[in-house]
Amino acid sequence: MKTIRFFLLLFATGILSVSAVAQSTQRMEVTIVNKGSESITKVFVMTVPIMEDPKRFGDIKLDSPIKPGGSRTLKFDAPKPEMMTVGKNTYPRLRPGLEIRWAEPACKTLLELNSYSLNQSVSTGVTECAVYRTESALVEYALADAEKSFAARTYQKAVEQYSNVLEKDPRNEKALHHRAHSYQNLKEYDKAIADFTATIAVVTNSKHTHLKPTHIYGDRALTYLQHEKFEAALADYNRVLAVAPETASFRYYRSQVYCKMGKKDLAAADEKTLVAAGITLPKTCL
Ligand SMILES: [Zn+2]
Repeated sequence: MKTIRFFLLLFATGILSVSAVAQSTQRMEVTIVNKGSESITKVFVMTVPIMEDPKRFGDIKLDSPIKPGGSRTLKFDAPKPEMMTVGKNTYPRLRPGLEIRWAEPACKTLLELNSYSLNQSVSTGVTECAVYRTESALVEYALADAEKSFAARTYQKAVEQYSNVLEKDPRNEKALHHRAHSYQNLKEYDKAIADFTATIAVVTNSKHTHLKPTHIYGDRALTYLQHEKFEAALADYNRVLAVAPETASFRYYRSQVYCKMGKKDLAAADEKTLVAAGITLPKTCL
């Protein structure tokens, strides 16, 4: 605790060096919607510690006031949250925040930003002057955290983090797709299949998707194969091969499915097609 107090003291006196500030900040993005009747004229970045008064960290330059009914997306460096552990629980000891000021000086409020977890509720500091919308920024940060865990192959943690994202944004295709792969890697096949199925539903109806439905059907097919649900795997492979017959991996795995089902002739036919296309088979059905 001593270190932290010293840190805050430095803040208050403005001695903190530039490099130390850079290490303890994070880039944030918040959209402020002004639902009040006064223009927002000033926004300050704050540190909001437990048991101590908030302190001003920096000033956000507004090119023009945010008028009533208007909104503005602000990008800024905010203090990183600091956590403290009491027994088994971890609490935010220091959160980033914004102080919003209106033309009327009496009308100001403090918004605490929870960038570290979607499970924590945002203290919106709502007054009759304004309502803030931070949800979309929070989803982005939470998704970035989950992606890190996924890339690091810490799948259990990734599942929890993707679940946080999906609580806020149930149709987030990246979260659904990668949570499915996380479950698949954890060998929780039923859950993986449910998520791939949900991803297919989202992708099929989306104009802005980055995923091809065949990719997800292929993912689900392989999961069915791993789960030894051969009929379902076959149905998915038949579907994707009807659309993309040249995809060698789909045909190879379908041959594996046929093999497991005891349909050796059909397995051999797929293998023959692959060999004719110059593909070396890792394994054959014999
Ligand atoms: Zn995939």
